Amino acid sequence: MPLDPSRTVDELRELRELTGDENGAQRVAWTPTWAKAKEWLSGKLAGTGADEATDEAGNQWFTLRGASERVLLLGGHIDSVPNGGWLDGALNVVAAVEVVRRIAEDGEPPITVRLVNWADEEGARFGRSLFGSSAAAGSMADQDDLRQRKDADGVALPEALREHGVDLDRVLDARAQLENAAAYLELHIEQGPVLESMGLPLGVVLGTFGVERHQVTFRGQAAHAGSTPMDKRRDALAGAARLELEIREIAKRTGGGAVCTMGGVVTKPGIVTSVVETAECLLDQRHLDGGTLARMLGEAKEASERFARAEDVDVEWQRIWNIEPILFEDELIELADESIREVAGTSHRLPSGPLHDAAEVSRAGVPTVMLFVQSLRGLSHTKLEDTKPEHLELSVQALDRLAAKTIAKLAA
Ligand SMILES: [Zn+2]
Repeated sequence: MPLDPSRTVDELRELRELTGDENGAQRVAWTPTWAKAKEWLSGKLAGTGADEATDEAGNQWFTLRGASERVLLLGGHIDSVPNGGWLDGALNVVAAVEVVRRIAEDGEPPITVRLVNWADEEGARFGRSLFGSSAAAGSMADQDDLRQRKDADGVALPEALREHGVDLDRVLDARAQLENAAAYLELHIEQGPVLESMGLPLGVVLGTFGVERHQVTFRGQAAHAGSTPMDKRRDALAGAARLELEIREIAKRTGGGAVCTMGGVVTKPGIVTSVVETAECLLDQRHLDGGTLARMLGEAKEASERFARAEDVDVEWQRIWNIEPILFEDELIELADESIREVAGTSHRLPSGPLHDAAEVSRAGVPTVMLFVQSLRGLSHTKLEDTKPEHLELSVQALDRLAAKTIAKLAA
């Protein structure tokens, strides 16, 4: 059976019919619809001779044994956000099914090939992204926090996991799965506007952005809005407002894909008759280079102190979360570039703003690369998420070429 990329598009539509409704995809992890999608996936691989197993973290594995123990991994996630798109996550898994079929048809591969469907990439129900991949990577270190988490209906995370055969105390045992992994490939929709704006179907991902998230709190003095002259105010919101405008300049000055976002500002007392006493800002900064990211953070801190002095208020920084940039492997980036040029003529290298399971696998020391296929209007996590069928087909071809080149390299 030669590779049939149009079958991937048909199967993605089939999955959409099976697990979506008029509001979009509903394959939220640890729900019956997610379980149904996993069962559907098993059915798709049944004819390939791949062995199926589920690990301690709920990741679903399909193994096509080869002549050697070394493993090429193809991975994605079939879970979605509520009212999500039909392609985010699922494309990687369904395209990999087609690649596994092609490899199986060619006879015993020189190395072992495994397809993994990572559990709960999105973290939509409990707010914990990259669940299964971080367990397999051994980087998960927040089990105590996870034990306390509840969904919107008050169901505790450990209880929801138990319904799907997963014991939170044992999830790190999934680490054994990456033991012989020699390469990891992941195809994903871009979820941004870059490739579309360049008129290109496909790109190679260089790595995932490092992220710095902070709460920045400006503190001034609440005072009557009528009786306090403008020059006597200690207005915390003025500091926040000036910082919001400045972070855009920082990102612009830095370049190289730098992004800074003030995602929220909460003001207190927050009434129309008072000067703002405290303004709590949520700041997110991202860059592919760790040193540059640190500089962006330093510039934002320095600016916030300058604005605080000018407005006669105080400012305090508190880190919410951070992750270092994760760079994919040079040789695999070259092979991915080559594969894209062969099927689409032109390739482009770009960083990923969102995190992906590939970041966790790469962190665990497995050589990794990702392919991006163009997203229409850059939209994702909505039922409006879409990619042209001809671009989806090209992406399956590129993944197949890349898999073939990687197997040849690892078998040599
Ligand atoms: Zn995804």
